[in-house]
Amino acid sequence: MKKEKKFESALEVKKGVEQPPIFSSEVVSSHKSLKKKKYSAVEYFEGIRRGDITLLSQAITLIESSLTKHYDIAQEIIQLCIPHSGRSVRIGITGVPGVGKSTFIEALGGTITGSGSKLAVLAIDPSSERSKGSILGDKTRMETLAVDKNAFIRPSPSAGSLGGVARKTRETIILCEAAGFDVIFVETVGVGQSEVAVHSMVDFFLLLMLAGAGDELQGIKRGIMEMADAIAITKADGNNIAKAGMAKAQYASALHLFPIGESKWSPKVLTCSSLTKEGIKEIWGTINEFMKITRENGWFHQHRKEQSLYWMYETITQQLRDSFYKSEEMNEMIREFERKVMLDEMSSFEAARKLLDHYFTKKC
Ligand code: GDP
Repeated sequence: MKKEKKFESALEVKKGVEQPPIFSSEVVSSHKSLKKKKYSAVEYFEGIRRGDITLLSQAITLIESSLTKHYDIAQEIIQLCIPHSGRSVRIGITGVPGVGKSTFIEALGGTITGSGSKLAVLAIDPSSERSKGSILGDKTRMETLAVDKNAFIRPSPSAGSLGGVARKTRETIILCEAAGFDVIFVETVGVGQSEVAVHSMVDFFLLLMLAGAGDELQGIKRGIMEMADAIAITKADGNNIAKAGMAKAQYASALHLFPIGESKWSPKVLTCSSLTKEGIKEIWGTINEFMKITRENGWFHQHRKEQSLYWMYETITQQLRDSFYKSEEMNEMIREFERKVMLDEMSSFEAARKLLDHYFTKKC
């Protein structure tokens, strides 16, 4: 009898391996406990000030919620926290998937928490609902930090527009600072617009790049490179050391072409390996040097003030937009006017003016 080649068929359905949970246990438990016990804004605030991670997580969940009642209490908590915020060093970390962001965050994060500082790692990933948490969604990516008493890891809010996700992350920074975190990392995937949002909420922007992959391939736009206060060439170990050195020289001369910004800081290019830890301390040293220089020349505070204004305008724009499109009455009118514009019965400008007039007079 012919032997069955049962296991060689490519069409055979294989038993899958168990996948890690999408949300970290903290997030799940904070969601669950939100349903159980209700705290007042002051109780949340006091918990946050005590460094109570459970209450901090729950308050962040309120920030992320789309329910109006959650929004109101979240805003109250933020207001209470604001006077106690602002004291951390905020660092944006970006790079394409696979560049080594989470491994790098573990390595640099370990250096920071090892020196006794408290580190919060947040993420901005507007795609995370679609990709089921492509960054930080699964805590196993940062195993050491996840169990580090001095570290707090929070995945990206999973729903909403980039603007909404970014605003929530900025508000989360305020809460983390009030909870006593000294350093905040904001991680984002370097493939789209989210870098601009991150740049508008951090003091230092670090771009991670691979050696020998080319800018095009890494999808890093010139504008993103221009925003970087430092570029770190990752995976500078083993056979990759020479290539990393070459990439460093290339990026250093490319950055030289950009004019020096108001911070008076000239961006640095470094190499590092998160595996051997080579170069990690130097990156931390560079960040500290940046902080010292920009604090002394006043740019650090000036930049934060400008960011606050940016977020004021950003929030107004977003809330106006949300309120305009959320109203059922407006939506009906919009559909009707859409049809008229399509049939050339009304110009786009006329339609927009009438819709806005209606919105503001009726306050839908
Ligand atoms: P992310 O998608 O940017 O967060 O990248 P990961 O941190 O998940 O890393 C992607 C892959 O690169 C993983 O297989 C890591 O083990 C590997 N990797 C990360 N850092 C280093 C490094 O410093 N050296 C080497 N050789 N590999 C690394």
